[in-house]
Amino acid sequence: MSAEAIATLALAETRPEVFWLDRPERPEPSPCLDTDLNVDLVVVGGGFTGLWTALTAIEADPGRSIVVLEADTIAFGASGRNGGFCEASLTHGLENGVGHWPAEVDKLLHLGDGNLQGLLDAIDRHDIGCSPEPTGALNVAVTPWQADSLVDSASLHEAHGMSVTLLDAASTRSQVNSPTYLGGAWHPDGVVMLDPARLAWGLRRAVESLGVRFFENTPARSIEAIGGGGPTGVRIRTDAGAVTARRAVVATNAFRPPIRRIRRYVAPVYDHVLVTEPLSADQLSAIGWSNRQGLSDMGSQFHYYRLTADDRILWGGWDALYHFGNRVGPAVEHSPGTSRMLATHFFETFPQLEGLSFTHRWSGPIATTSRFTCAWGTSHNGAVAWAAGYTGLGVAASRFGARVALDLVDGRATERTELEMVRRSPFPFPPEPLRWPAIQITRRAIQRSDQRDGKRGPWLALLDKFGIGFDS
Ligand SMILES: Cc1cc2nc3c(=O)[nH]c(=O)nc-3n(C[C@H](O)[C@H](O)[C@H](O)COP(=O)(O)OP(=O)(O)OC[C@H]3O[C@@H](n4cnc5c(N)ncnc54)[C@H](O)[C@@H]3O)c2cc1C
Repeated sequence: MSAEAIATLALAETRPEVFWLDRPERPEPSPCLDTDLNVDLVVVGGGFTGLWTALTAIEADPGRSIVVLEADTIAFGASGRNGGFCEASLTHGLENGVGHWPAEVDKLLHLGDGNLQGLLDAIDRHDIGCSPEPTGALNVAVTPWQADSLVDSASLHEAHGMSVTLLDAASTRSQVNSPTYLGGAWHPDGVVMLDPARLAWGLRRAVESLGVRFFENTPARSIEAIGGGGPTGVRIRTDAGAVTARRAVVATNAFRPPIRRIRRYVAPVYDHVLVTEPLSADQLSAIGWSNRQGLSDMGSQFHYYRLTADDRILWGGWDALYHFGNRVGPAVEHSPGTSRMLATHFFETFPQLEGLSFTHRWSGPIATTSRFTCAWGTSHNGAVAWAAGYTGLGVAASRFGARVALDLVDGRATERTELEMVRRSPFPFPPEPLRWPAIQITRRAIQRSDQRDGKRGPWLALLDKFGIGFDS
Protein backbone atom coordinates (compact mmCIF):
# COMPACT_ATOMS: atom_id res chain seq x y z
CA MET A 1 0.00 0.00 0.00
CA SER A 2 1.22 3.55 -0.68
CA ALA A 3 2.00 5.89 2.22
CA GLU A 4 -0.99 7.95 1.11
CA ALA A 5 -3.37 4.99 1.32
CA ILE A 6 -1.94 4.01 4.72
CA ALA A 7 -2.41 7.62 5.85
CA THR A 8 -6.06 7.69 4.77
CA LEU A 9 -6.77 4.57 6.82
CA ALA A 10 -4.85 5.95 9.81
CA LEU A 11 -6.98 9.10 9.78
CA ALA A 12 -10.34 7.30 9.56
CA GLU A 13 -11.20 7.65 13.27
CA THR A 14 -9.26 10.83 14.07
CA ARG A 15 -11.09 13.37 16.19
CA PRO A 16 -10.77 17.10 15.43
CA GLU A 17 -9.67 17.85 19.01
CA VAL A 18 -6.51 19.16 20.62
CA PHE A 19 -4.89 16.18 22.34
CA TRP A 20 -3.48 18.30 25.19
CA LEU A 21 -6.84 19.92 25.99
CA ASP A 22 -8.92 16.76 25.53
CA ARG A 23 -8.62 15.67 29.15
CA PRO A 24 -11.01 15.29 32.07
CA GLU A 25 -8.69 17.39 34.25
CA ARG A 26 -9.26 20.49 32.05
CA PRO A 27 -10.26 23.11 34.63
CA GLU A 28 -13.77 24.50 34.71
CA PRO A 29 -13.71 28.05 33.37
CA SER A 30 -13.98 30.85 35.88
CA PRO A 31 -17.08 33.06 35.58
CA CYS A 32 -17.09 35.85 33.05
CA LEU A 33 -16.81 39.44 34.19
CA ASP A 34 -20.23 40.93 34.95
CA THR A 35 -19.35 43.97 37.01
CA ASP A 36 -16.96 46.93 37.08
CA LEU A 37 -13.57 46.56 38.74
CA ASN A 38 -10.72 48.83 39.69
CA VAL A 39 -7.28 47.16 39.89
CA ASP A 40 -3.56 47.82 39.59
CA LEU A 41 -2.88 45.58 36.58
CA VAL A 42 -5.11 43.95 33.99
CA VAL A 43 -3.77 41.25 31.69
CA VAL A 44 -5.61 40.63 28.42
CA GLY A 45 -5.15 37.05 27.16
CA GLY A 46 -4.76 33.82 29.13
CA GLY A 47 -2.02 32.07 27.16
CA PHE A 48 1.58 31.69 28.32
CA THR A 49 2.38 35.40 27.85
CA GLY A 50 -0.58 36.47 29.97
CA LEU A 51 0.01 33.78 32.61
CA TRP A 52 3.73 34.58 32.97
CA THR A 53 2.89 38.27 33.17
CA ALA A 54 0.47 37.62 36.03
CA LEU A 55 2.85 35.25 37.84
CA THR A 56 5.87 37.53 37.53
CA ALA A 57 3.89 40.58 38.64
CA ILE A 58 2.27 38.94 41.66
CA GLU A 59 5.49 37.26 42.81
CA ALA A 60 7.35 40.57 42.59
CA ASP A 61 4.62 42.49 44.41
CA PRO A 62 2.12 40.32 46.30
CA GLY A 63 0.09 43.42 47.19
CA ARG A 64 -0.68 44.25 43.55
CA SER A 65 -4.31 43.67 42.53
CA ILE A 66 -4.34 41.83 39.19
CA VAL A 67 -7.01 40.39 36.93
CA VAL A 68 -6.69 38.29 33.77
CA LEU A 69 -9.33 38.60 31.06
CA GLU A 70 -9.49 35.69 28.63
CA ALA A 71 -11.77 35.73 25.57
CA ASP A 72 -12.27 31.96 25.64
CA THR A 73 -10.63 29.69 28.23
CA ILE A 74 -7.07 29.46 29.55
CA ALA A 75 -4.75 27.88 26.96
CA PHE A 76 -7.40 28.08 24.25
CA GLY A 77 -4.88 29.64 21.82
CA ALA A 78 -1.41 28.56 20.75
CA SER A 79 -0.41 27.81 24.35
CA GLY A 80 -2.71 24.79 24.53
CA ARG A 81 -2.13 23.61 20.96
CA ASN A 82 1.62 23.57 20.45
CA GLY A 83 4.20 20.81 20.15
CA GLY A 84 5.55 21.32 23.66
CA PHE A 85 9.13 21.93 22.51
CA CYS A 86 10.33 24.26 25.26
CA GLU A 87 13.58 25.77 23.97
CA ALA A 88 16.03 28.27 25.38
CA SER A 89 16.27 30.25 22.14
CA LEU A 90 14.67 33.70 22.25
CA THR A 91 15.44 34.29 18.58
CA HIS A 92 13.72 31.42 16.76
CA GLY A 93 17.03 29.64 16.49
CA LEU A 94 20.65 30.72 16.50
CA GLU A 95 20.89 31.40 12.75
CA ASN A 96 18.04 33.91 12.94
CA GLY A 97 19.54 35.54 16.03
CA VAL A 98 22.96 35.92 14.38
CA GLY A 99 21.32 37.24 11.21
CA HIS A 100 19.41 40.00 13.02
CA TRP A 101 21.44 40.87 16.11
CA PRO A 102 25.04 39.74 15.59
CA ALA A 103 26.33 42.14 18.27
CA GLU A 104 23.96 41.00 20.99
CA VAL A 105 23.36 37.39 20.10
CA ASP A 106 25.62 36.05 22.86
CA LYS A 107 23.75 38.15 25.41
CA LEU A 108 20.47 36.82 23.98
CA LEU A 109 21.80 33.25 24.33
CA HIS A 110 22.68 33.93 27.95
CA LEU A 111 19.29 35.52 28.66
CA GLY A 112 17.58 32.61 26.92
CA ASP A 113 19.38 30.05 29.11
CA GLY A 114 18.43 32.00 32.22
CA ASN A 115 14.84 32.26 31.01
CA LEU A 116 14.55 28.49 30.46
CA GLN A 117 16.04 27.84 33.89
CA GLY A 118 13.62 30.36 35.43
CA LEU A 119 10.73 28.54 33.75
CA LEU A 120 11.88 25.17 35.10
CA ASP A 121 12.37 26.66 38.58
CA ALA A 122 8.79 28.00 38.51
CA ILE A 123 7.51 24.54 37.50
CA ASP A 124 9.28 23.13 40.57
CA ARG A 125 8.34 25.96 42.92
CA HIS A 126 4.65 25.66 42.06
CA ASP A 127 4.67 21.90 41.67
CA ILE A 128 3.31 22.00 38.12
CA GLY A 129 2.93 18.48 36.77
CA CYS A 130 3.66 19.11 33.10
CA SER A 131 6.19 16.27 32.58
CA PRO A 132 9.26 18.34 31.66
CA GLU A 133 11.89 16.08 30.07
CA PRO A 134 15.31 17.64 29.29
CA THR A 135 15.71 15.48 26.20
CA GLY A 136 17.62 17.81 23.88
CA ALA A 137 16.86 17.88 20.16
CA LEU A 138 17.91 15.93 17.12
CA ASN A 139 17.81 17.78 13.81
CA VAL A 140 17.73 15.39 10.87
CA ALA A 141 18.61 15.77 7.20
CA VAL A 142 16.37 14.06 4.69
CA THR A 143 18.06 15.43 1.54
CA PRO A 144 21.76 15.88 0.69
CA TRP A 145 21.51 19.70 0.83
CA GLN A 146 19.99 19.48 4.30
CA ALA A 147 22.95 17.31 5.36
CA ASP A 148 25.29 20.11 4.19
CA SER A 149 23.31 22.71 6.10
CA LEU A 150 23.58 20.59 9.26
CA VAL A 151 27.37 20.90 9.05
CA ASP A 152 27.19 24.70 8.67
CA SER A 153 24.70 24.98 11.50
CA ALA A 154 26.84 22.81 13.80
CA SER A 155 29.90 25.05 13.20
CA LEU A 156 27.85 28.13 14.03
CA HIS A 157 26.55 26.58 17.26
CA GLU A 158 30.08 25.54 18.27
CA ALA A 159 31.38 29.04 17.53
CA HIS A 160 28.86 30.33 20.10
CA GLY A 161 29.91 27.80 22.71
CA MET A 162 27.00 25.42 22.26
CA SER A 163 27.38 21.68 22.39
CA VAL A 164 26.45 19.80 19.20
CA THR A 165 27.39 16.42 17.73
CA LEU A 166 27.13 15.65 14.04
CA LEU A 167 25.88 12.15 13.23
CA ASP A 168 26.15 10.19 9.99
CA ALA A 169 23.15 8.37 8.56
CA ALA A 170 23.78 5.13 10.48
CA SER A 171 24.31 6.89 13.84
CA THR A 172 21.21 9.01 13.29
CA ARG A 173 19.13 5.92 12.51
CA SER A 174 20.51 4.23 15.61
CA GLN A 175 18.89 7.04 17.62
CA VAL A 176 15.59 7.09 15.74
CA ASN A 177 15.09 4.70 12.88
CA SER A 178 13.78 6.23 9.68
CA PRO A 179 14.95 5.17 6.21
CA THR A 180 14.71 8.84 5.18
CA TYR A 181 17.53 10.07 7.44
CA LEU A 182 20.84 10.97 5.79
CA GLY A 183 22.42 12.55 8.87
CA GLY A 184 21.69 14.41 12.06
CA ALA A 185 22.88 17.01 14.54
CA TRP A 186 22.38 16.21 18.19
CA HIS A 187 21.82 19.22 20.48
CA PRO A 188 21.86 17.88 24.04
CA ASP A 189 21.17 21.14 25.87
CA GLY A 190 18.53 23.82 26.08
CA VAL A 191 15.55 21.79 24.85
CA VAL A 192 12.88 20.35 27.15
CA MET A 193 9.79 18.44 26.05
CA LEU A 194 6.74 19.23 28.16
CA ASP A 195 2.96 19.08 28.26
CA PRO A 196 1.87 22.61 27.33
CA ALA A 197 -1.74 22.52 28.53
CA ARG A 198 -0.70 21.16 31.91
CA LEU A 199 1.91 23.93 32.11
CA ALA A 200 -0.76 26.55 31.39
CA TRP A 201 -3.27 25.05 33.80
CA GLY A 202 -0.57 24.75 36.48
CA LEU A 203 0.45 28.37 35.99
CA ARG A 204 -3.18 29.41 36.29
CA ARG A 205 -3.55 27.47 39.56
CA ALA A 206 -0.34 29.02 40.93
CA VAL A 207 -1.34 32.53 39.95
CA GLU A 208 -4.85 32.11 41.34
CA SER A 209 -3.48 30.80 44.63
CA LEU A 210 -1.47 34.04 44.92
CA GLY A 211 -4.62 36.13 44.64
CA VAL A 212 -4.94 36.93 40.91
CA ARG A 213 -8.53 36.81 39.64
CA PHE A 214 -9.45 35.21 36.30
CA PHE A 215 -12.43 36.02 34.10
CA GLU A 216 -12.85 33.61 31.21
CA ASN A 217 -15.20 33.91 28.23
CA THR A 218 -14.56 37.63 28.66
CA PRO A 219 -13.14 39.25 25.51
CA ALA A 220 -11.71 42.73 25.96
CA ARG A 221 -13.68 44.83 23.48
CA SER A 222 -11.93 48.17 23.77
CA ILE A 223 -9.16 49.94 25.63
CA GLU A 224 -9.24 53.66 26.37
CA ALA A 225 -6.79 55.87 28.22
CA ILE A 226 -8.10 57.61 31.30
CA GLY A 227 -6.68 60.74 32.86
CA GLY A 228 -4.68 63.05 30.65
CA GLY A 229 -1.03 63.59 29.88
CA GLY A 230 1.07 60.95 31.64
CA PRO A 231 0.35 57.27 32.06
CA THR A 232 -2.54 57.50 34.48
CA GLY A 233 -4.45 54.38 33.50
CA VAL A 234 -6.86 52.61 31.18
CA ARG A 235 -10.42 51.40 31.06
CA ILE A 236 -11.01 48.08 29.33
CA ARG A 237 -14.58 47.33 28.34
CA THR A 238 -15.96 43.82 28.06
CA ASP A 239 -19.51 42.69 27.20
CA ALA A 240 -20.85 42.95 30.76
CA GLY A 241 -18.36 44.98 32.78
CA ALA A 242 -15.31 47.19 32.61
CA VAL A 243 -11.92 47.09 34.29
CA THR A 244 -10.20 50.30 35.25
CA ALA A 245 -6.51 49.73 35.86
CA ARG A 246 -3.33 51.67 36.38
CA ARG A 247 -1.55 49.41 33.93
CA ALA A 248 -2.43 46.77 31.31
CA VAL A 249 -0.50 44.11 29.42
CA VAL A 250 -2.01 42.87 26.18
CA ALA A 251 -1.09 39.25 25.38
CA THR A 252 -3.41 38.29 22.54
CA ASN A 253 -0.67 37.00 20.19
CA ALA A 254 -2.20 35.86 16.87
CA PHE A 255 -5.78 36.85 17.65
CA ARG A 256 -7.47 40.07 16.51
CA PRO A 257 -5.70 42.50 18.82
CA PRO A 258 -7.47 45.18 20.85
CA ILE A 259 -4.60 47.51 19.82
CA ARG A 260 -4.54 48.01 16.06
CA ARG A 261 -0.82 48.69 15.88
CA ILE A 262 -0.02 45.06 16.80
CA ARG A 263 -1.59 43.91 13.53
CA ARG A 264 1.08 45.75 11.51
CA TYR A 265 3.75 43.46 12.89
CA VAL A 266 1.95 40.18 13.50
CA ALA A 267 0.28 37.82 11.04
CA PRO A 268 -1.66 34.73 12.16
CA VAL A 269 -0.62 31.51 10.39
CA TYR A 270 -2.14 28.12 11.05
CA ASP A 271 0.11 25.22 11.87
CA HIS A 272 -1.36 21.69 11.85
CA VAL A 273 -0.69 18.78 14.20
CA LEU A 274 -1.53 15.06 14.43
CA VAL A 275 -1.23 12.75 17.42
CA THR A 276 -1.18 8.96 17.19
CA GLU A 277 -2.56 6.38 19.57
CA PRO A 278 0.06 5.19 22.13
CA LEU A 279 2.72 3.00 20.54
CA SER A 280 3.05 -0.61 21.67
CA ALA A 281 6.40 -1.90 22.93
CA ASP A 282 6.96 -3.56 19.52
CA GLN A 283 6.17 -0.36 17.62
CA LEU A 284 8.50 1.61 19.88
CA SER A 285 11.32 -0.84 19.37
CA ALA A 286 10.75 -0.72 15.59
CA ILE A 287 11.71 2.97 15.61
CA GLY A 288 14.22 3.05 18.50
CA TRP A 289 13.86 6.57 19.93
CA SER A 290 14.82 5.43 23.41
CA ASN A 291 16.28 8.87 24.24
CA ARG A 292 12.94 10.57 23.50
CA GLN A 293 14.56 13.64 21.85
CA GLY A 294 12.47 16.24 20.08
CA LEU A 295 13.03 15.91 16.33
CA SER A 296 12.74 18.17 13.34
CA ASP A 297 13.94 18.04 9.77
CA MET A 298 15.99 20.79 8.19
CA GLY A 299 13.95 22.11 5.26
CA SER A 300 12.37 25.56 5.29
CA GLN A 301 9.13 23.60 5.34
CA PHE A 302 9.77 21.18 8.16
CA HIS A 303 8.15 18.65 10.46
CA TYR A 304 8.59 18.61 14.21
CA TYR A 305 7.83 15.49 16.21
CA ARG A 306 8.14 14.06 19.68
CA LEU A 307 6.90 11.39 22.04
CA THR A 308 4.24 12.26 24.59
CA ALA A 309 4.40 11.02 28.19
CA ASP A 310 2.15 8.08 27.20
CA ASP A 311 4.26 7.21 24.12
CA ARG A 312 2.14 8.68 21.37
CA ILE A 313 3.86 10.52 18.55
CA LEU A 314 2.94 14.15 18.06
CA TRP A 315 3.70 15.11 14.45
CA GLY A 316 3.24 18.66 13.19
CA GLY A 317 4.42 21.40 10.90
CA TRP A 318 5.12 21.66 7.16
CA ASP A 319 2.33 23.95 5.96
CA ALA A 320 1.88 27.43 7.42
CA LEU A 321 -1.51 28.63 6.23
CA TYR A 322 -2.40 32.30 6.22
CA HIS A 323 -6.03 33.23 5.61
CA PHE A 324 -7.00 36.48 3.87
CA GLY A 325 -7.79 39.34 6.25
CA ASN A 326 -5.91 37.78 9.20
CA ARG A 327 -8.79 35.38 9.74
CA VAL A 328 -8.64 33.10 12.77
CA GLY A 329 -11.22 30.81 14.35
CA PRO A 330 -13.09 27.54 13.77
CA ALA A 331 -14.01 28.33 10.14
CA VAL A 332 -10.34 28.22 9.07
CA GLU A 333 -8.99 25.67 11.55
CA HIS A 334 -9.72 22.41 9.78
CA SER A 335 -7.95 21.38 6.62
CA PRO A 336 -8.46 17.68 5.77
CA GLY A 337 -5.98 18.00 2.88
CA THR A 338 -3.25 19.26 5.22
CA SER A 339 -3.94 16.45 7.72
CA ARG A 340 -3.75 13.87 4.92
CA MET A 341 -0.49 15.31 3.66
CA LEU A 342 1.01 15.35 7.16
CA ALA A 343 -0.10 11.74 7.72
CA THR A 344 1.43 10.68 4.39
CA HIS A 345 4.74 12.29 5.37
CA PHE A 346 4.52 10.45 8.70
CA PHE A 347 4.30 7.02 7.05
CA GLU A 348 7.02 7.92 4.55
CA THR A 349 9.21 8.67 7.58
CA PHE A 350 8.16 5.64 9.62
CA PRO A 351 6.91 2.94 7.21
CA GLN A 352 7.41 0.38 9.98
CA LEU A 353 4.44 1.96 11.81
CA GLU A 354 1.86 0.98 9.16
CA GLY A 355 -1.37 0.20 11.01
CA LEU A 356 -0.91 2.90 13.66
CA SER A 357 -3.87 5.30 13.89
CA PHE A 358 -4.09 9.00 14.60
CA THR A 359 -6.45 9.85 17.43
CA HIS A 360 -6.32 13.68 17.31
CA ARG A 361 -5.85 16.37 14.68
CA TRP A 362 -5.95 20.11 15.18
CA SER A 363 -4.37 23.37 14.18
CA GLY A 364 -3.56 26.58 15.97
CA PRO A 365 -2.73 30.16 15.10
CA ILE A 366 0.95 31.00 15.29
CA ALA A 367 1.70 34.72 15.50
CA THR A 368 4.56 35.38 13.13
CA THR A 369 6.57 38.56 12.62
CA SER A 370 8.82 39.29 9.66
CA ARG A 371 11.85 38.58 11.88
CA PHE A 372 10.31 35.46 13.56
CA THR A 373 10.66 36.77 17.11
CA CYS A 374 8.46 38.58 19.56
CA ALA A 375 7.73 42.28 19.09
CA TRP A 376 6.89 44.67 21.91
CA GLY A 377 5.29 48.06 22.17
CA THR A 378 3.47 50.48 24.46
CA SER A 379 0.34 52.54 23.94
CA HIS A 380 -2.21 54.68 25.84
CA ASN A 381 0.38 57.10 27.20
CA GLY A 382 2.55 54.22 28.36
CA ALA A 383 -0.16 52.61 30.50
CA VAL A 384 -0.33 49.58 28.18
CA ALA A 385 2.42 47.27 26.96
CA TRP A 386 2.03 44.39 24.54
CA ALA A 387 4.13 41.38 23.50
CA ALA A 388 3.30 39.17 20.52
CA GLY A 389 4.77 37.24 17.61
CA TYR A 390 7.07 34.44 18.81
CA THR A 391 6.42 32.56 15.57
CA GLY A 392 6.85 28.80 16.25
CA LEU A 393 9.12 29.12 19.27
CA GLY A 394 7.17 30.75 22.06
CA VAL A 395 6.72 28.11 24.76
CA ALA A 396 9.72 29.39 26.71
CA ALA A 397 10.21 32.75 24.95
CA SER A 398 6.74 33.86 26.10
CA ARG A 399 8.07 33.99 29.67
CA PHE A 400 10.75 36.40 28.47
CA GLY A 401 8.18 38.32 26.41
CA ALA A 402 6.02 38.73 29.49
CA ARG A 403 8.91 40.01 31.60
CA VAL A 404 9.84 42.59 28.98
CA ALA A 405 6.20 43.73 28.73
CA LEU A 406 6.09 44.18 32.51
CA ASP A 407 9.39 46.11 32.48
CA LEU A 408 7.93 48.40 29.81
CA VAL A 409 4.60 49.02 31.48
CA ASP A 410 6.19 49.59 34.87
CA GLY A 411 8.68 52.01 33.30
CA ARG A 412 11.71 49.99 34.43
CA ALA A 413 14.94 50.16 32.41
CA THR A 414 16.52 46.70 32.52
CA GLU A 415 19.07 44.66 30.61
CA ARG A 416 16.07 43.27 28.71
CA THR A 417 14.62 46.63 27.67
CA GLU A 418 18.05 47.78 26.47
CA LEU A 419 18.17 45.02 23.84
CA GLU A 420 17.99 46.09 20.23
CA MET A 421 15.56 43.20 19.74
CA VAL A 422 13.22 44.96 22.19
CA ARG A 423 13.86 48.57 21.19
CA ARG A 424 13.39 48.09 17.45
CA SER A 425 10.18 46.89 15.87
CA PRO A 426 10.17 44.29 13.11
CA PHE A 427 9.64 45.33 9.52
CA PRO A 428 5.83 45.58 9.23
CA PHE A 429 3.79 43.26 7.00
CA PRO A 430 1.81 45.17 4.37
CA PRO A 431 -1.91 45.63 5.13
CA GLU A 432 -4.56 43.78 3.12
CA PRO A 433 -5.23 43.45 0.26
CA LEU A 434 -1.43 43.21 -0.19
CA ARG A 435 -0.67 41.02 2.83
CA TRP A 436 -2.25 37.86 1.44
CA PRO A 437 -0.50 37.91 -1.98
CA ALA A 438 2.84 38.90 -0.40
CA ILE A 439 2.64 35.91 1.95
CA GLN A 440 1.53 33.52 -0.81
CA ILE A 441 4.40 34.62 -3.08
CA THR A 442 6.82 34.08 -0.21
CA ARG A 443 5.37 30.66 0.68
CA ARG A 444 5.72 29.52 -2.93
CA ALA A 445 9.29 30.82 -3.09
CA ILE A 446 10.08 28.84 0.09
CA GLN A 447 8.58 25.67 -1.44
CA ARG A 448 10.62 26.18 -4.61
CA SER A 449 13.76 26.74 -2.57
CA ASP A 450 13.30 23.42 -0.76
CA GLN A 451 12.77 21.70 -4.12
CA ARG A 452 15.96 23.30 -5.51
CA ASP A 453 18.42 22.13 -2.90
CA GLY A 454 17.86 25.12 -0.63
CA LYS A 455 18.78 27.73 -3.28
CA ARG A 456 17.04 30.91 -2.21
CA GLY A 457 15.93 32.39 -5.58
CA PRO A 458 15.53 36.13 -6.35
CA TRP A 459 12.45 36.85 -4.17
CA LEU A 460 13.89 35.25 -1.03
CA ALA A 461 17.29 36.81 -1.72
CA LEU A 462 15.60 40.22 -1.82
CA LEU A 463 13.79 39.59 1.45
CA ASP A 464 17.04 38.28 3.02
CA LYS A 465 18.69 41.56 2.09
CA PHE A 466 16.16 43.43 4.21
CA GLY A 467 16.24 40.82 6.98
CA ILE A 468 12.61 39.88 6.53
CA GLY A 469 10.83 36.63 5.87
CA PHE A 470 7.93 34.32 6.55
CA ASP A 471 8.10 31.24 8.76
CA SER A 472 6.16 29.17 11.26
C1 LIG B 1 0.31 24.31 16.32
C2 LIG B 1 1.37 25.08 17.06
C3 LIG B 1 2.56 24.45 17.42
C4 LIG B 1 3.53 25.16 18.13
N1 LIG B 1 4.64 24.48 18.59
C5 LIG B 1 5.52 25.11 19.38
C6 LIG B 1 6.57 24.39 20.00
O1 LIG B 1 6.65 23.16 19.91
N2 LIG B 1 7.47 25.09 20.74
C7 LIG B 1 7.37 26.44 20.91
O2 LIG B 1 8.22 27.02 21.58
N3 LIG B 1 6.34 27.14 20.39
C8 LIG B 1 5.40 26.51 19.66
N4 LIG B 1 4.33 27.20 19.17
C9 LIG B 1 4.20 28.64 19.50
C10 LIG B 1 3.72 28.85 20.94
O3 LIG B 1 2.65 27.97 21.22
C11 LIG B 1 3.27 30.30 21.12
O4 LIG B 1 4.32 31.16 20.75
C12 LIG B 1 2.88 30.64 22.55
O5 LIG B 1 1.97 29.70 23.06
C13 LIG B 1 2.28 32.05 22.57
O6 LIG B 1 1.64 32.28 23.80
P1 LIG B 1 0.72 33.55 23.94
O7 LIG B 1 0.19 33.56 25.31
O8 LIG B 1 1.46 34.75 23.50
O9 LIG B 1 -0.46 33.34 22.88
P2 LIG B 1 -1.76 32.43 22.96
O10 LIG B 1 -1.51 31.16 23.65
O11 LIG B 1 -2.31 32.35 21.57
O12 LIG B 1 -2.75 33.26 23.89
C14 LIG B 1 -3.45 34.39 23.47
C15 LIG B 1 -4.76 34.39 24.27
O13 LIG B 1 -5.41 35.64 24.13
C16 LIG B 1 -6.80 35.40 24.12
N5 LIG B 1 -7.44 36.58 23.53
C17 LIG B 1 -7.40 36.98 22.25
N6 LIG B 1 -8.08 38.14 22.09
C18 LIG B 1 -8.55 38.48 23.32
C19 LIG B 1 -9.31 39.57 23.81
N7 LIG B 1 -9.75 40.56 23.01
N8 LIG B 1 -9.63 39.61 25.13
C20 LIG B 1 -9.19 38.63 25.97
N9 LIG B 1 -8.45 37.56 25.54
C21 LIG B 1 -8.13 37.50 24.24
C22 LIG B 1 -6.93 34.15 23.29
O14 LIG B 1 -8.18 33.52 23.49
C23 LIG B 1 -5.74 33.34 23.78
O15 LIG B 1 -6.09 32.48 24.85
C24 LIG B 1 3.33 26.53 18.45
C25 LIG B 1 2.14 27.16 18.09
C26 LIG B 1 1.16 26.45 17.42
C27 LIG B 1 -0.13 27.13 17.06
